[in-house]
Amino acid sequence: MTGRPEPVIPRQDDGAGYGVQCPLCRLAPAPDSLRCPGCQEDLAPLVHLRLRGRLAYNEGLRLARAGSLGEAVGELERAVRLEPGLVVAWVVLGKAAARRGDRARAAEALGRALRLDPGHPGAEAALTALAAARPAGDRPGGERSGGQAGHASPAADV
Ligand SMILES: [Zn+2]
Repeated sequence: MTGRPEPVIPRQDDGAGYGVQCPLCRLAPAPDSLRCPGCQEDLAPLVHLRLRGRLAYNEGLRLARAGSLGEAVGELERAVRLEPGLVVAWVVLGKAAARRGDRARAAEALGRALRLDPGHPGAEAALTALAAARPAGDRPGGERSGGQAGHASPAADV
């Protein structure tokens, strides 16, 4: 905990441009060709680079819904590494980690989501559920953290 505030992440740009600009002209790629309208440079590689985080997120979400939580967490970790501002990926990562019993990672990921998007309802609900499902850590001999992965409600939608 450094106390250093998280860097401000630019808002998502889901419209034309995918948050990508031509490095020379500062223009968004044309939606059909993915070329710069100014210099005609092919910006498709940049767009794909930009979208990799979302592709990883989609795959992670699919895996989580299929119950492959270990693989899902791997993909979602990749997604947030590629696109740290992708709030929904942090939320799903938090939920998947919670379902695996990795409470520390779950709390961290959900905290990240809330710092990026204060009041995010999904993140707040998941964090509340995480706190409510706290194993009796104050009771010796209680459930060990990291043990029963299936303790969290399986109904937790991811
Ligand atoms: Zn250009």
